[in-house]
Amino acid sequence: MANIILLGPPGAGKGTQARLLVENRGMVQLSTGDMLRAAQSSGTEMGRKVAAVMAAGQLVTDEIVIGLIGEKLAEGGSGFIFDGFPRTLAQADALDALLKRSGQTLDAVVEMQVDDTALVERITARSTCGTCGEVYNDISKPIPADGKCSVCGGTEFKRRADDNAESLKQRLMEYYKKTSPLIGYYYHANKLEAVDGLGEIAEIADSIAAVLDRRATS
Ligand code: AMP
Repeated sequence: MANIILLGPPGAGKGTQARLLVENRGMVQLSTGDMLRAAQSSGTEMGRKVAAVMAAGQLVTDEIVIGLIGEKLAEGGSGFIFDGFPRTLAQADALDALLKRSGQTLDAVVEMQVDDTALVERITARSTCGTCGEVYNDISKPIPADGKCSVCGGTEFKRRADDNAESLKQRLMEYYKKTSPLIGYYYHANKLEAVDGLGEIAEIADSIAAVLDRRATS
């Protein structure tokens, strides 16, 4: 099964679309952000080390995230959605090497394009179900009136500690300085596919599905 990267700034909808690809196509989501948050909640040494960096909206070291992805790829399988990884050119090179080592290819890099005003609006309005991780938005997809998650019925919702205006500004700066060069990198590797990330969730999912189907047959 194809392996893809979802590339885009914070709030572009990578996590939401990754969840749909897992549901609809049986792909496997590898989100370094989720892995780092899990390390924090379980109180590992690494989790403690990265907490302040993440809260400030900065990138954690390449070594840590490459290690996390390396461990997952070593477990085998395919059909990976890399969500929030790579975020630097060094991470992109490392991913290339890791995929080669496990006899896999990178089939497409889907760049989700969303303008900055929409990103700020989306992120400051976002919350997730504490049980299943379903993503909600105060404006476009509010938590149901009965206070229960529409997917799992959970009643606890959380907002990310770094989803505030100050931290978001730093995350966007990190994206433009360190991650956006990957657009040129993957364009020249003939992997880049741009998708308009501004429409309805289902429409964006259709655009991504079309990219995957085209790449699978080309
Ligand atoms: P995300 O959930 O993808 O928005 O990531 C949340 C935070 O985790 C980021 O702001 C970074 O501090 C850290 N992080 C996640 N993925 C990476 C990565 N590939 N490289 C460096 N830092 C990362």
